[in-house]
Amino acid sequence: MPHLSEILMHLGEDREHYFNAVSPPVIQTSNFTFKDLTAFREAFTNELTHHIYSRGNNPTVQILRRKLAALESADDALVTGSGSAAIATAVISNLKAGDHVVCVEGAYTWTKILLSQLLPRFGVSCTFVDGRDIQNIKNALRENTALLYLESPTSLTFDLQDLEACADLARSKGIVSIIDNSYASPIFQKPIEFGIDLVVHSGTKYLNGHSDVVLGVICGSKEMIQKIFETEFMTLGGIISPHDANLVIRGLRTLDLRVRRSFESTLKVARFLDGHPKVKEVLYPFLPSFPQYELAKRQMRGAGGLISAYIDADSKEEMEAFIGRIKRFLIAVSWGGYESLIMPTIGFYDIKGRPDSPHPWNLVRFYVGLEEADWLIEDLEQAFEVFE
Ligand SMILES: *Cc1c(COP(=O)(O)O)cnc(C)c1O
Repeated sequence: MPHLSEILMHLGEDREHYFNAVSPPVIQTSNFTFKDLTAFREAFTNELTHHIYSRGNNPTVQILRRKLAALESADDALVTGSGSAAIATAVISNLKAGDHVVCVEGAYTWTKILLSQLLPRFGVSCTFVDGRDIQNIKNALRENTALLYLESPTSLTFDLQDLEACADLARSKGIVSIIDNSYASPIFQKPIEFGIDLVVHSGTKYLNGHSDVVLGVICGSKEMIQKIFETEFMTLGGIISPHDANLVIRGLRTLDLRVRRSFESTLKVARFLDGHPKVKEVLYPFLPSFPQYELAKRQMRGAGGLISAYIDADSKEEMEAFIGRIKRFLIAVSWGGYESLIMPTIGFYDIKGRPDSPHPWNLVRFYVGLEEADWLIEDLEQAFEVFE
C-alpha cells in the first residue's frame, strides 16, 4: 500500500501527460475521440478503464478515484454526484426482488428511506436493528438476507458496530456487507481491512472538506466495482462533474491535516461540555464515559468532529434562548467542512406539516471545524450564561 502522503499528494497524477503541470487539469469534456476503429474497439473492451464518454470515465475523475481507492485500501472506487447516490447505487447493485436487508437503525435518514420506502416497491424487505449488539444482527438474519448495511459510528448518537465480527458473520453466511464510513473517514477507520466488502462515503463531508462540493464514493474489490459500474452506475448515471472532481482532489491534499485538527479540537470541546453543570450527557466515542469507548479505541484511530449533548434546559424557550446565543457555531445541517456548526434537535420541532423529531428537544449536535478550540469554547461559555 502506498504511504498516505504519496496517496494525497501524488498518486494517480500522470503529470507528464499534461505539460508536467503540478496540479491536474480539469478535463471538461463529455466525449472522447478515436484515431481509428482499432482504438475504438480497444476502448470498448472495458469502459471503466478507457476514455469513451464522461458518464463512464473521465481523466480528472479517474485521478480522484485512484486516490480514494488507495485511502480505503480498496482495489478501485467510483465517484457519484452525492453520498446518497453512492449509497443507493451500491445497495441496489447487491439486491434483487425477494431479498432481505439487515440495516442498523441509526443509519443516515435517506439510507433508511431507500430501504424502508423505495426498495420495498421492488420486492426488497428490510429489518432495522440496534447494531451495538451483534446478537441483534444475528437474530434478524433470514434465509433470504442478501445484504448487511452498517454505519459505524452513526452520525447523531455514534452507535458503533464491531466491524470485524460483522464482516466475519456476513462472510460466513455469504451476505454482502456495506458500511457508511463518512464519520470516521479513512484517516481513522479502514473497514475493508476488517473484511467489509464495500465502503461508501458522503464525500461532501470530510473528503472534500470545504463545504463547496456534494459527492459520494463507493470503494471495493476490482470485481465488485466493475460489476457496479457496468450495471447500476452506468444506468443510474449519477456522476460528478470534472470540475467538482478537481476541487475534491484539492480538498484531499489537506485531508489528514484537517481530520486530525478537527479531532484534537473536538476532544477539547467534548471535555468542556462533559464537565459543564448545564450539560446532562455528552456523546463522543473517544470520551472514556462513552458506553462503547473500548470498541471505538480498538477499531478507530481517532474520532470525527461531531459531538452530541443533552442540555439541562427546563423548557423549550430556555433551550431556544441558549441556541440563540451561540454565534461561532453556525446553525446548519451537514458537517465535515472548515466551519463549526450546530444542529439543534429543537429545530426539527414545530415545522409546519411535519411531525416533531423523535429525539428530545434538548439534544444538540455540534460539529467542530478548523477554528481554534479555545475560541469556540469561549462562545459556548457565554451562551451557557443564559441559564444563570
Ligand atoms: C451527509 C451524509 C450522507 C449523505 O451524503 P450526501 O453527500 O449529502 O448525499 C450519508 N451518510 C452520512 C453519514 C452523512 O452524514
